[in-house]
Amino acid sequence: MQVQRTPMRCPICDRELVDVRIRNIGTVTANLLWQMHAGRCTEHGWFQAEVISKPPREIFPVNRPGGVVRRVEVDGREYFSFPTVWNAMDPRQDVDPFDPRYWEVDWDRIRGASIGVTRG
Ligand SMILES: [Zn+2]
Repeated sequence: MQVQRTPMRCPICDRELVDVRIRNIGTVTANLLWQMHAGRCTEHGWFQAEVISKPPREIFPVNRPGGVVRRVEVDGREYFSFPTVWNAMDPRQDVDPFDPRYWEVDWDRIRGASIGVTRG
């Protein structure tokens, strides 16, 4: 069996994911790369992200590869998705979609947004 690799890590603990599955969804145009990446954190379960020629904008917790989005709780808050660093960048930029820097979860943004919400 071929071992598949993904730049995706666990959004919660940054651990390397196991049981990685990369599914080629197909090419809509000749130059479009379209893949679904899924992997499992031994502590936090399955996560999934979609690559369409660019790094994923969000990483989703799912019940299984290709399954439905599930809810995860981190520090007492519920999450259904985790925005990546790429999410805050200009999507017109030409970047390597598999550069792990863009796959990092943008915790500064998540926590920054939550401060305004929880105050008061
Ligand atoms: Zn984890």
